[in-house]
Amino acid sequence: MPEGDALHRAARRLQPLVGERLEVETPNPRAQVGGIAERLDGRRLLSVEAVGKNLLLTFEGGYVLHSHLRMTGRWSLVPRGAPRRGLPWLVLRGSKYEGVQWNGPVLELHGRSIRRLGPDILERPPRIDEMFARLRRDGRGRAIGDAILDQRLVAGIGNKWKAEALWAVELSPWRSLDETTDGKLRTLLDAAARLMSGSLDGRRHANRVYRRVGRPCPRCGERIVSRGQGDANRIAYWCPGCQL
Ligand SMILES: [Zn+2]
Repeated sequence: MPEGDALHRAARRLQPLVGERLEVETPNPRAQVGGIAERLDGRRLLSVEAVGKNLLLTFEGGYVLHSHLRMTGRWSLVPRGAPRRGLPWLVLRGSKYEGVQWNGPVLELHGRSIRRLGPDILERPPRIDEMFARLRRDGRGRAIGDAILDQRLVAGIGNKWKAEALWAVELSPWRSLDETTDGKLRTLLDAAARLMSGSLDGRRHANRVYRRVGRPCPRCGERIVSRGQGDANRIAYWCPGCQL
């Protein structure tokens, strides 16, 4: 799944279209429900931003196009009229460039309510206090590894950075949020922000626990384990030796 950092790269790529009136097409029949092209065609694009794992394209008239890439989707920016093969979901054509969205799968047009997402972990500086407050208020009774994937509490953390950030601060994904001290919770949010911003800036990161089941923990040597966690049963990875 593209994580927040991949979405931020896509948002940067599309910046040359901001401020332009766009020709909007949805060549793929699966993208034609909802009348996105009809409603957006000819409108000016006001901003493109990554909020968590969502790309939000705001158009004049109060329209916000919400693009969530899931496993397969991607955005590219090419010269206007560049030849292509296949049927992209969406084409946003400006005077010099066009933004092309391939393989969906989620394209929705909203009012402004999408703002219910939590603060983005990749904002600079990240709003740690607000994330902390949301986790404390709405995460009660939940395991920490489950709560930090809830995009309404903290936007942008995906499965990989969840695993790596928890390892970095020696915290088990199964620890209840209620039993996590304020200091530890802030340290965790700081670690996630630092690791993910580093990745966005091109810093290399060697995974310590993510997808390393059965390998020795680089800190204590215990074998890494995994198990499904939360409503979506996404795989949590952790070291039972040093993550408590
Ligand atoms: Zn360990």
